[in-house]
Amino acid sequence: MSNSVTAYLLLGGNLGDRAALLRAAQAQLATAAGEIAAASALYETAAWGREDQPAFLNQALAVRTALPAAELLAQCLATERHAGRERLERWGSRTLDVDILLYGDALVDQPGLTVPHPRLAERRFALVPLAEIAPQLRHPRLGLTVAELLARCSDPLPVRPWPGK
Ligand code: AMP
Repeated sequence: MSNSVTAYLLLGGNLGDRAALLRAAQAQLATAAGEIAAASALYETAAWGREDQPAFLNQALAVRTALPAAELLAQCLATERHAGRERLERWGSRTLDVDILLYGDALVDQPGLTVPHPRLAERRFALVPLAEIAPQLRHPRLGLTVAELLARCSDPLPVRPWPGK
């Protein structure tokens, strides 16, 4: 694809069969957004400030996409809705979050979409999986690589490789 861009997405969820939901989301994004060029392992993180909630599983994906950023976001939100449809009534909460972390070198500031994701540098649960698949990738606003951002990140919540299947 000559006009394609590599975008980095963060998938996360803390309800239902988390790993199965992440697998289904990846399959849907491969169809709707573009080829999955890399996928991190799954990592588990406690819910921030909410000890009453189950822990999250997160995964970073690199997607080769021909979609403009706004259309990629629309596909991310469609993937979230698809995951939620099956479980919303039962759990009363969202099962899947899909964020655009980076979209090539682009700086996007439009209503409803900010890229790079404004909280990327503060979230260990995003930086750890992203550093697994793209440690040398440079944040186009901050000028630091993902590995450098992770080394400087002060987020205290531990992010553990998830041993399950
Ligand atoms: P949240 O549920 O907190 O993840 O927020 C989702 C909303 O954040 C979406 O409906 C988007 O309009 C908005 N948003 C802004 N920037 C981004 C981004 N980089 N990735 C995903 N959603 C974004």
